[in-house]
Amino acid sequence: MTTAVLALTPGSIDVMLLIPCPWCGPRDQCEFDYGGANVKFPDLRHSPETSIDDWHKAVHLRENAKGEIREIWYHRSGCERWISTTRNSLTHEFSEPSAGDEEESSRNCDAD
Ligand SMILES: [Zn+2]
Repeated sequence: MTTAVLALTPGSIDVMLLIPCPWCGPRDQCEFDYGGANVKFPDLRHSPETSIDDWHKAVHLRENAKGEIREIWYHRSGCERWISTTRNSLTHEFSEPSAGDEEESSRNCDAD
């Protein structure tokens, strides 16, 4: 498990996340782009009953849960790969990093 590092300076608290890349090891969050929560979208493409409200709920409304959430990150300044990891939203501790390729591809719509 990788923990967040708190750098205390007078008058402010800065938090630097160390994100565990499965290929490069723990790296500063400034090397990554946030890909969002790793959620599985419902398949709304082929249903004639799909409304704008259904799309709005699927795309924009999230649970915003406390605790462990699954996220994807792109290691832009490193291996240039997507990773998937679990971050505790309260402590910013990371665990279970993985390649993310399989999970990332499952987020995208399949071409027909
Ligand atoms: Zn990397």
